[in-house]
Amino acid sequence: MLKYDVIVIGGGVAGVCAAVTASRRGLKTLIVEKHMNMGGVLTSSFVMPMMTFHSQKRQVIKGIAQELVERLMEKNGSPGHIKDPIGFVPTITPFNPETMKTVLFEMLCEEKVDVISGHICTTTVSRKSIQTIHVQQATISNEYTSIDLCADIFIDATGDGNFSIKSGAPYTIGESLSQETQPMTLILRVGKINAREITDYIRSNPGNFLFDEKTDFSYLAVSGYFQECLRCEKYNLNFKRDRLLFFQIPNFSDQVMINTNRYPGLSLNKFEHSKAHMDAVLGIENFMTFLRSEIRGFSDAVLLESAPVIGVRESTHVCGISTIQMSQLMGDVKVDEPVAIGSYPVDMHVSGSDELRVVTIPYPSEYQIDMKNLIPKNLSNVLLAGRAISADHLAFSAVRTSPLACVTGQVAGLMAFLSSTDKCPVNFIKYKKLKLLLQEDGIVYE
Ligand SMILES: Cc1cc2nc3c(=O)[nH]c(=O)nc-3n(C[C@H](O)[C@H](O)[C@H](O)COP(=O)(O)OP(=O)(O)OC[C@H]3O[C@@H](n4cnc5c(N)ncnc54)[C@H](O)[C@@H]3O)c2cc1C
Repeated sequence: MLKYDVIVIGGGVAGVCAAVTASRRGLKTLIVEKHMNMGGVLTSSFVMPMMTFHSQKRQVIKGIAQELVERLMEKNGSPGHIKDPIGFVPTITPFNPETMKTVLFEMLCEEKVDVISGHICTTTVSRKSIQTIHVQQATISNEYTSIDLCADIFIDATGDGNFSIKSGAPYTIGESLSQETQPMTLILRVGKINAREITDYIRSNPGNFLFDEKTDFSYLAVSGYFQECLRCEKYNLNFKRDRLLFFQIPNFSDQVMINTNRYPGLSLNKFEHSKAHMDAVLGIENFMTFLRSEIRGFSDAVLLESAPVIGVRESTHVCGISTIQMSQLMGDVKVDEPVAIGSYPVDMHVSGSDELRVVTIPYPSEYQIDMKNLIPKNLSNVLLAGRAISADHLAFSAVRTSPLACVTGQVAGLMAFLSSTDKCPVNFIKYKKLKLLLQEDGIVYE
């Protein structure tokens, strides 16, 4: 059996940041990812840009997340942080997903993290005592092989926390009573758009768009075409949309990533998940006709590619020894053991409708994440990272985005280091020691 100090399950940005951090601290580390590429939804579902690294007052996301952006910039794969042209958040950080794939692999290789991609973790073996469960072994498999692995600590960076759930942590689904989840969205890479025509049109029809009046449109980010979307029914689209949302791909002035629609369904239900993806793909032809016929700047537009995987916003929530509630976000609540600061607002996409519910975080739009939000209930050697951290349905719609996912990944890597070196269960990690490591790693936490 292969034995590691730390095994990270899930190679999204959170998982990669966790694995790189653990390895930098000298732990023998393995990362396991279901797909062949790293980056999770940022590379497999074309989710872009990262938002947001800044509160209304300061840069709150630093550490390895900032390092990632600098590496992307060095390869011309990102312009870095730019003022949000839509005015939704202080800054956005666009990137080319192809560069993201390369940079994430480079970081793992440099830190000598062992990588197994194309494998899924299916089962775990645990030792149970009265109060806790210790995960002893995980089995990963593909069509041909099954490999048993063991580790002192496992980091669950699976997005939906499926590793912790398999191992016995309690969980809820979507909104805990109705089990309603946020919808899924397929993102398209569309080429041959006319950026000049689009920006001229926005300037002459400001009421038809949301945008920051000070933007110079040197980077194209668009939310609007509200009037045109009223006519979308004419095109037999299999969805309703009140607006279009798209972002330019860095260094490709005529290419954008564009959100299609919100498809309802629970991704845990394989028929519903498959149907959402299938419906989204079947809707593309009519959507492209709608774009070419109705949307200024898209008359010659071509579909370059649809994302390989429909983007899943929400499914299960692992119960942590502390779970982030809305009050933690809204009431300027100071948590006991802060490890990160988020700033993205509550951004709730309502299933089966075109409604978007946004709750702005009071000035300076900052909230703290507690160390205990990264520790699943009942498990003595598992940590949560990224989208999998413990949050209720509403709070989750704020804390799920990618910059904070990188930071909680890094924090989980540091917590794994302390748990491993002090030989203590994860809920006995000393916050005082963690605080010193957060400072060493340049993480903003208070
Ligand atoms: C449609 C959509 C739009 C979004 N828009 C934005 C946006 O504009 N800006 C922004 O910053 N964020 C946005 N987000 C949210 C954000 O991108 C993600 O929540 C964030 O990137 C999560 O990162 P992660 O690493 O925690 O999880 P993920 O990216 O979900 O990665 C988890 C990884 O774990 C792997 N995995 C899961 N289970 C297993 C298993 N059992 N074994 C092996 N591997 C496994 C998966 O294959 C995946 O690669 C959006 C999300 C969606 C879906």
